[in-house]
Amino acid sequence: MDYKTYFHNYPNHEGRFGEYGGVYLPDDLKKAFEEIDYAYQTICRSSQFINELRRIRKEFQGRPTPVYHCNRLSRKIGACQIYLKREDLNHTGAHKLNHCMGEGLLAHFMGKKRLIAETGAGQHGVALATAAAYFGLECEIHMGEVDIVKQAPNVARMKVLGAKVVPVSFGLKTLKEAVDSAFDSYLKSYKESIYCIGSVVGPHPFPMMVRDFQMCIGIEAREQFLEMTGLLPDAICACVGGGSNSAGMFSGFLADPVEIYGVEPLGRGTNLGDHAATITYGKKGVLHGFESLLLQDAEGNPAPVYSNASGLDYPAVGPEHAFWAKEKRVNYVTASDEEAIAAFFNLSRYEGIIPAIESSHAIAYAMRWAKQHRSGAILVNCSGRGDKDIDYVIEKYGTGENYLL
Ligand SMILES: *Cc1c(COP(=O)(O)O)cnc(C)c1O
Repeated sequence: MDYKTYFHNYPNHEGRFGEYGGVYLPDDLKKAFEEIDYAYQTICRSSQFINELRRIRKEFQGRPTPVYHCNRLSRKIGACQIYLKREDLNHTGAHKLNHCMGEGLLAHFMGKKRLIAETGAGQHGVALATAAAYFGLECEIHMGEVDIVKQAPNVARMKVLGAKVVPVSFGLKTLKEAVDSAFDSYLKSYKESIYCIGSVVGPHPFPMMVRDFQMCIGIEAREQFLEMTGLLPDAICACVGGGSNSAGMFSGFLADPVEIYGVEPLGRGTNLGDHAATITYGKKGVLHGFESLLLQDAEGNPAPVYSNASGLDYPAVGPEHAFWAKEKRVNYVTASDEEAIAAFFNLSRYEGIIPAIESSHAIAYAMRWAKQHRSGAILVNCSGRGDKDIDYVIEKYGTGENYLL
């Protein structure tokens, strides 16, 4: 595989990364996604669009986010050096705004008046509601009734930002039903609306488009790391839920002699239902309009998933990750709830940075890598900040003295 020409060839015109990806939708919805694909291919390559997105990233989001050397944490472990790409310092506290602002700007250029999406834990809903407020667009967020109760602070944020939160009251009343409900609403209103997926998942063009919008993470990080150290890192890593922050990070380094690690959540253990490690334990299947690896039960239905990081518990994964795994360009590894919590407390105490529990999975792996090597540097994407997780962590794990190195 020639990674220098990779982005010209993947995905192909059908939205396929090798055997994964594509579009699995009823005909009328297919048409709506084709419209988005066409608009993306034309509008997003115009200098007007690119310049406007650059301005937004700089003035509204606060990009570029810095790369930071974790000096004290590294010394606690040994001779390896751990560096962070600080996506937690992006506006709204995570990487999600990178693609939400891109999707919002595309909607604006297409003359749409409404953004539609589903949300599980509410993080995507809040980021998209932020983009909608910025562009003066309507925003409709579909959310399971169970999640609405669990994620009350994010529901409040969406409402303050002006979004309409649509409660979904059928089935298990969680993420899967929210997707069905949002697809339904989009089908009824695609002339004036655009559907905005929250990761590198879903039908083409979303896996490609969201990756492209997130690629600023990897491109910036590579340049910043080179400037700081004069070298490339020996390894990079990022957590993988749907796979957007990791896809953005990895894309900047595919053609380099750099080891790449995607970290999946192992939750409570290896039994089905106790984790969300899709690439490690999944099989090929179709969900939510695309083909990828999927955690499935014996009947081939999407399996229940679990992680203490609500942003990582999705039974599928972006098709490009399934492809990178097959091509062996990216190594997919796991970190458990406990390892993530240990990383959460250590980064907080030794560096003064409280990471999201999602990001803590990647930091946990970086700490393991550092312990196993005598020299070298690993660059971790810190996808978000942990303020949203503080109440949960304190209640379940206390202040964490027994986790410290
Ligand atoms: C949503 C989220 C994730 C997981 O999503 P990806 O698409 O896998 O990046 C990771 N970290 C944070 C902070 C998130 O909010």
